[in-house]
Amino acid sequence: MLPSHLYVHVPFCARRCSYCDFSIAIRRVAPVSDYLDGIRLELERLAPLALTPRSAAWSLETVYLGGGTPSRLGAEGIRRLIELITQRGSLAPGAEVTLEANPEDVTAESVEAWMAAGISRLSLGAQSFDDGVLGWMHRTHDARQIHEAVRLARAVGIRNLSLDLIFALPREIERSWSRDLETALALEPEHISLYGLTIEPATPLARWIAAGSVSPAADERYAEEFLLAHELMTAEGFTHYEVSNFAQPGRESRHNSAYWSGASYLGIGPAAHSHEADRRRWNVKPYAEWLRILREGGSVVEGEESLDVESAMTERAYLGLRTRDGYKIGASDRITAEGWARAGWAVIEGDLVRLNAEGWLRLDSLSTGLTGS
Ligand code: SF4
Repeated sequence: MLPSHLYVHVPFCARRCSYCDFSIAIRRVAPVSDYLDGIRLELERLAPLALTPRSAAWSLETVYLGGGTPSRLGAEGIRRLIELITQRGSLAPGAEVTLEANPEDVTAESVEAWMAAGISRLSLGAQSFDDGVLGWMHRTHDARQIHEAVRLARAVGIRNLSLDLIFALPREIERSWSRDLETALALEPEHISLYGLTIEPATPLARWIAAGSVSPAADERYAEEFLLAHELMTAEGFTHYEVSNFAQPGRESRHNSAYWSGASYLGIGPAAHSHEADRRRWNVKPYAEWLRILREGGSVVEGEESLDVESAMTERAYLGLRTRDGYKIGASDRITAEGWARAGWAVIEGDLVRLNAEGWLRLDSLSTGLTGS
């Protein structure tokens, strides 16, 4: 039986953002028909239509169209993509179907078509509301387009809206983090995701840093901005439910929560990952290679691995500690966790340890300190 959580990677972007090293394909116009042909072929290998009539057991609780920039498929492209999926599986009642969109792709017509196709949640890549910062990031939209996208999405009927923001930018950019947070909150989204800027090799950002024109944010400023976001958003009624994510009550991302709880999921499209029990596999990354292999009748799975007992425990601890649900500790890890609690980084409730915002700043080092016993 196929997992009830499906991720679809749509790799197209109009240009590469200055900090991005994701697996994307730069296309001025997304090759919608070719891409959908690849998705059709990949789905056919995984769930042959003859054996998987629509009414059969593949019930989807969540679908996440991520990228890249999935909204570049346009109104008709998204409709056809959802149709390919629902020829093989059914969306469960109340299924969460998320579309990642860049603001400039949001029009009243596109949102209407996306909702008619089954999209129930829109995740907007805002990143900042400062045009100077957006230009520095090589984003393809300005602040006005973010406001307009939110207005249009609301007017057409989107009731589950998430905004992405990036923090810990170089000091030289002179970005006002508090102003961006306040602007985001004023738009009243149901969900906000925050990403600390990371410096990936072979990006324009890495070159600017190597040339000395900008410098990475110091750890202290990273911590200050993270804690300010926690303070402002929780004061507005958001729950900080995962290290990088905030939601109004009941609006947590069900799809991403499935990842963090260790549930099985299927990923399709170039570079997509899948996970089942303690096994995971991943697809080839380059879009053109992914499509060629599928058209030649081959498998696009590039690699797979099974986690050994120790790695599986470390992963469970890391995923559990990322969320407010926490991680179940044994007697020996309790001593470690009590030290975290004394330091003000965690609370212990019964056999669960839960990190707080201070603890999440130390997530990587703390999670490797547990033994699973
Ligand atoms: S829109 Fe997203 S995926 Fe595309 S280049 Fe920018 S950061 Fe990368």
